[in-house]
Amino acid sequence: MNAVVATEARTAPLVSVERLTKDFPIRLGGLIATRASLRAVDDLSLAIYPGETLGLVGESGCGKTTVGRLILRLLEPTAGRIRFDGEDITHRSEPQMRPLRQHIQVIFQDPFSSLNPRMRVRDVIGEPLRNLGMRRNEIEQRVAELMGIVGLPAEYMTRYPHAFSGGQRQRIGIARALAVRPRFIICDEAVSALDVSIQAQILNLLADIQRQFSLTLLFISHNLGVVRHVSHRIAVMYLGQMVELATEQALFTRPLHPYTQALISAVPEPDPEIQSRRIALQGEIPSPIAPPPGCRFHTRCPKAEERCRSTEPVIREVEPGRFVRCHFPG
Ligand code: SF4
Repeated sequence: MNAVVATEARTAPLVSVERLTKDFPIRLGGLIATRASLRAVDDLSLAIYPGETLGLVGESGCGKTTVGRLILRLLEPTAGRIRFDGEDITHRSEPQMRPLRQHIQVIFQDPFSSLNPRMRVRDVIGEPLRNLGMRRNEIEQRVAELMGIVGLPAEYMTRYPHAFSGGQRQRIGIARALAVRPRFIICDEAVSALDVSIQAQILNLLADIQRQFSLTLLFISHNLGVVRHVSHRIAVMYLGQMVELATEQALFTRPLHPYTQALISAVPEPDPEIQSRRIALQGEIPSPIAPPPGCRFHTRCPKAEERCRSTEPVIREVEPGRFVRCHFPG
């Protein structure tokens, strides 16, 4: 077992990935088309413990959404292992996954596109219950209960999704995910499409239901400020690799990886002195088709030295439960 998983073993994780890798084959254009591959996730090991929210953060294209889709078994991994509640689900077929689907739910970014516009809210939320064979009157009761939990009046259950605001539609998405009493929910950019004021309400709701139902959450977002609001621990990804993993408090009080330091410095702060210490990252994230040699972050890192350009750092535990991938952490 990889060190990142093994040394965190305080209790058995509910979800773990070990050395997870995902390559996507691609065709490069030109006079003669050539085949290449894009490594979206590279040798990632993580454990998510019962009752915790793990934040997974990084810029667009860093591989965080692919990690979620791999755990959901919507994508086949190229290498590595995925375990749920101790069981190896890495290569399970869809029929083999079906009994587990009840325990693993997802909340997507765009609530409108993930809700069927021709179904009444009662049917949207109740559909997974119907699939479990629940009777109609029981479904209505449970839907009313779920709407109360997410802060929607039960009498709205006969309306269609278009009659709701963006925040209300995301509440419907959360109610649907909760319907089958899951143990694990992946929130994939769940508040990114919402206005800032609505974001805060939905984040508070997610934090409440996490506590109320002792849920385990994987909260994926490009926005570290949002991730901070709900996460117990945070994993930072850059170009397919995890570069830092720490508790929320440790990460924000003493970030060790220069990329994490830059992300934290970019989180909006009312204090002008803190704002003035902002680290502006130069350049775009390099292409994952041809990542830079050595440390993948060296092309943008303000602390890069010669060694960083030639030798790839490995991820290592620098304090109990704290991991960083950098030759010169801190
Ligand atoms: Fe920066 Fe070097 Fe650390 Fe990479 S290894 S993050 S380039 S200091």
